[in-house]
Parts: sequence; structure tokens; C-alpha cells
Amino acid sequence: MFKGILIEKDDDAGYRAALKEIDEAVLHDGDVTIRVAYSTLNYKDGLAITGKGPVVRRFPMIPGIDLVGTVEQSDSPDYQVGETVVHTGWGVGEVHPGGLAEKARLKSDWLVPLPEAFTPRQAMAIGTAGFTAMLCVMALERHGVTPDDGEILVTGAAGGVGGVAVSLLARLGYTVVGVSGRPEESDYIKSLGASEVLDRADFTSPAKPIARERWAGAIDVVGSHTLANVCSMMKYRGVVAACGLAGGMDFPATVAPFILRGVTLAGIDSVMCPRPERLAAWQRLARDLDASKLEMLSSEIDLSEAISVAADLLEGKVRGRVLVDVS
Ligand code: NDP
Repeated sequence: MFKGILIEKDDDAGYRAALKEIDEAVLHDGDVTIRVAYSTLNYKDGLAITGKGPVVRRFPMIPGIDLVGTVEQSDSPDYQVGETVVHTGWGVGEVHPGGLAEKARLKSDWLVPLPEAFTPRQAMAIGTAGFTAMLCVMALERHGVTPDDGEILVTGAAGGVGGVAVSLLARLGYTVVGVSGRPEESDYIKSLGASEVLDRADFTSPAKPIARERWAGAIDVVGSHTLANVCSMMKYRGVVAACGLAGGMDFPATVAPFILRGVTLAGIDSVMCPRPERLAAWQRLARDLDASKLEMLSSEIDLSEAISVAADLLEGKVRGRVLVDVS
């Protein structure tokens, strides 16, 4: 038995998450068993724990798409007992039991060794959100956006993906403008490296097909009208990396920015990201992320607080990244 959060669903008691003693039989097949040190709370974990989104597809389920921990048992030649490993994505916390428990059993193909540049705690301060922010930055680079091209917009800047994206871009020499619905977090977003912070309300009305050109690149975590407005404001041949749906799954836009301004919309998925790109993104995080900024944008809670903080996260009350101390 080990301690963790368990999500159960049945006709009598409905959908529920609770901190429990969990039987090892709940774990699924995998060739590496891990003693979890830290997990995190991402937006998707908030949806899973509260049941507000159809994230969990098998029950009972341990949520937690991210984890870092020590290998306790291994049938894989790639990982030895005692080694520290990091996991993000791959449907863990959705269809395969995840990191918000003292023990996890995962497939070795999903793991990456802890990058030397990071402590286990720092790796989780990054987690899926930070990893996704790095994938977004790499997409802008792949499509040729350089610091000389102009300003880069980051939406949801007080959140997890947004905060890491602002920090990374600023460190790489880009001029970054954040968008936030929380004016009280403007100084925090500027301290991460943004030169200016715009009001979220300026982006939530239905978008015009084309608006005044401003952004050379953009990272959007919000979707819906916000993504449509961002696309309409891109400079000629600008690039938008779209990774989120915090404002909605829809995309009420026209093709005008794409066919009149040659704008590129780059979709970002962290879950099934192939291993070579995964390793490359962690190497880039090790090189390009300022560890002092990482400390500023993360807070830490215990496993016992994870259920209530998950609800806060979905209500947009949480700043930056949330580390969960599982040990
Ligand atoms: P957070 O909750 O930490 O951040 C989301 C931020 O979005 C909030 O802090 C808030 O920023 C803003 N926001 C929230 N609700 C709204 C709204 N209704 N309208 C406009 N802005 C809003 O979540 P994460 O950073 O963990 O994730 C962000 C998004 O990215 C989520 O949709 C998540 O599912 C997605 N994601 C996708 C991944 C992928 O692989 N594609 C991987 C990781 C995340 P502020 O207060 O500053 O306005």
C-alpha cells in the first residue's frame, strides 16, 4: 500500500478524488517502478482532479501527468535502481496511473534521465508546462522568428506555460509582451522578463479578420477568441504557437491572416512528442532557462493540498507553477 490521490467513478457515488492508501494492484504494467519525490499540478491535472474535463479515461486512476523520482525496480537495461528519472505526458494521469502518489510504474520508453542541470525539484518546477513552453519557443525558432523580427506575445502569462515562456523568450533576447487577466500580477510578469503586460479583456471579443500588425511571434495558451485575435494581429509571415484551451476549445477565426499575411499557425502537443525532440527540449531548458526565474515562478504544496489547489488552478487563482511534494 502507498499514499496517493485516487480518482474513482461509479453510478452510486459519482466522480470523486480523495487522498487514500492505494493498493499496488491499481498500478498498470510497466518495466520501471519509481518512488515519486515530486509531482506537479498542470491545467490538465486540474481538469482530472475536479472532473471538469473528460481527461480521465480509466478508473480508478491516479492523476498527475508529471513526476520525478528514484527507480526502485527496473526490468529495463536503460534505467538502474537508484537513478533519478523524469516523466511528462504519454497519457499518464489519464489512462495510466500518474505521479500524485508515492509510487508509479511506467514504461521506460516514456522516461528521460534527470538532466544534470536540474535538481529533481527544479525538473518539476518545469514539468509539462515548462516543457511545453520550450516546445513553443522551438517552434517559433524553427519557423525563423528571431529577436530582430519584433515583439513576441505570450497569453496566460501569469499561468504555468505562460510564465516559463516569458522567462525563456526574455533570456533568448526577444522583446516579450504578456497578456493577463490579473492586473495584480503585472509586476510579477515583468520580473520574469516581459516589457509590457496587456489586459486579457482586449483579446476576448470576436476577432476582426485582420487587425493592425504588431506581433512577430506569439505563444497562446488560451484558444478561442484570444487565439483568433492574436492571429489577426500578426505581422507579415508571423508565427503563432498554439498549445492551450484555457479560454475555450473553439477557434472563431477567418483564414485572412494565413492567406493575406502568410501567418503560420504551429500546433504544439507535449503528450506524444517524440523522444528525440523531448530530449532536445530538456537540453534547451538546461541551457536557456534562468534557474532564479524558475524559483520565482513556482510554489510548493503537500499531497494533502493538491485537491483544493487543483480547483483554484482552474479558477485562474494560481500563479506560475505548482510543485507537489509527494515524499
Ligand atoms: P495555468 O492554469 O497555469 O495557466 C493558464 C492561464 O491562462 C491562467 O493563469 C490565466 O492567465 C489564463 N486563463 C485562464 N482562464 C482564461 C480564460 N477563460 N480566458 C483567458 N485566459 C485565461 O495552466 P497551464 O499553464 O498549465 O496550461 C495552460 C493551457 O495550456 C491549458 O489549456 C493547458 O491544457 C494547455 N497545455 C497544453 C499542452 C499541450 O501539450 N498542448 C501542455 C501543457 C498545457 P492570466 O491570469 O495571466 O490571464
